[in-house]
Amino acid sequence: MSRVSKIEPTSSYPPETTADELNHLAHTIKDWSIGNGLAVRTPPTVIASEADPTGITAVPAPVTLFPSGFPRQAFLQGQKAQQAYNDLYAAVSRDERFLADVVKQVIDGDDFVRDLWAVHETVKSEGYTQPLSLGLFRSDYMVHEDKSSSPPTHQAKQVEFNTIASSFGGLSVYASKLHNFLAKTEYALLEQSLAPEVLELPENNAIEGLAGGLEAAYQAYGDSELGHDKCVIFLVQGGERNVFDQRHLEYQIGKATPTIPVFRLPFADIVEHTSIAANPKRQLLYTHPRNPNKVFEVAVIYMRAGYGPGDYPNQQAWDARCHLERSHAIKCPTVLTQVAGIKKVQQVLATPRPSSEPSILSKFIKDDTPSAIALWNTFTNIYPMDTSDVGLEARKKALDPKQCVDYVLKPQREGGGNNIYGSAIPDFLKTVPEGHWNSYILMELIKPPPVKNFILRNGNIEKGRVISELGVYGTCLWNQTTGEVLRNEQAGWLLRTKGEESEEGGVAAGYGCMDSVSLT
Ligand code: ADP
Ligand code: MG
Ligand code: MG
Repeated sequence: MSRVSKIEPTSSYPPETTADELNHLAHTIKDWSIGNGLAVRTPPTVIASEADPTGITAVPAPVTLFPSGFPRQAFLQGQKAQQAYNDLYAAVSRDERFLADVVKQVIDGDDFVRDLWAVHETVKSEGYTQPLSLGLFRSDYMVHEDKSSSPPTHQAKQVEFNTIASSFGGLSVYASKLHNFLAKTEYALLEQSLAPEVLELPENNAIEGLAGGLEAAYQAYGDSELGHDKCVIFLVQGGERNVFDQRHLEYQIGKATPTIPVFRLPFADIVEHTSIAANPKRQLLYTHPRNPNKVFEVAVIYMRAGYGPGDYPNQQAWDARCHLERSHAIKCPTVLTQVAGIKKVQQVLATPRPSSEPSILSKFIKDDTPSAIALWNTFTNIYPMDTSDVGLEARKKALDPKQCVDYVLKPQREGGGNNIYGSAIPDFLKTVPEGHWNSYILMELIKPPPVKNFILRNGNIEKGRVISELGVYGTCLWNQTTGEVLRNEQAGWLLRTKGEESEEGGVAAGYGCMDSVSLT
């Protein structure tokens, strides 16, 4: 981290800029982004058109013109909590009875979680053959500002915890690099110049960190007893637009010596290109589509697909997931770890401690330890939507037009675009049978203080007040049977930013944009 001084929250940041200056910045970013892979594939509508019949084009990822100011206190808090979060979710993944109980609470209204759990039960009845489990996690936060203290304090409050397909680690590093580049070249030339030393841009090692997790699992797998070369599989969605984010990790793994072969396998092609060795260990074998004589033993399956119902259009898709799960490959994640990431688990873990009794969290992390305190400090109010006293209270809030505006209603889904916000909640609930309300959780909205910035999206500059969401990555490799943790690392971060009024912030979903942190 290099710095001389920092942005004062009261100062005018980003600096006042002329239209010419903004256009010039946009032009510089346009080239830098493609030149360095801060990019996404062109939308399918363009690919299908005559403009790009072979689908070779890419466009810059939406990004802010300046790194957004972000409170140091909250940034450091998120970094510091990550190892405790890694331990927590490794422990939750190992507690099958706890997970079974949580799943039971949502399963009536949620076929996806039901089917996911069925995969676990099938493999369990046969017996898992791979004790190691890999998590590439991302804990997401927004800043809660407490104005009652002077100066106001800033706390990182957790939005959610991702245990599968935690994306944007690749692009986040390049968003950091872009802003570093602009700080050295362009910002100082503005009429209201911004000297590089004014910004404090923390380092971001997300690519090395996440790739390091995959490499550690690859090594821990051991040698192939069948005499094959080993490989890592990136399990991906067909037509993925966010492919460069994934490629950055792949290219990083490619730097290892001796070489670690990495192959991209579309979820729909699992059965065609993989098989399970006919022995009790059930090694997963990958036959290269271009060379059927080349067979690899899959050491690690990194899933960037399989997190939502869209990847499972039929029973064959579920069978394919089961096929992977019963194999000896190290899964990132296992079904159990994926289930540990559902929002219901987050809600249960954040249940306040009843007086004189241990908290639910203490099943996994001892109460009153520094780790437990770090976790508690990131929790915000989340309520069940069941028929317990607290649940009935939550239902009242959700249905009340005055109170509902302070909440978001979440189903057990990943990938953005699934939540119901504020005033839309009552009408939405009327469309869901009351018996299925349990499969949602009600979460208090975190309202971070907006800052000014510019978003460059599709060549257009949007100016305004924006809010940011910090993601902190973690890698964890553990033994499901013994509980031994072989690796537990904080692995870089992500800043995504969206217009103050926008409800969802997903970059891939088209609402938010890439950003990086300038500490305030
Ligand atoms: P997903 O797993 O689909 O990403 P999230 O829980 O992260 O689901 O919600 C999606 C987005 O909705 C977040 O990125 C954030 O912008 C917004 N959001 C979710 N929960 C909250 C909250 N409690 N307060 C404010 N915004 C929220
Ligand atoms: Mg999210
Ligand atoms: Mg998520």
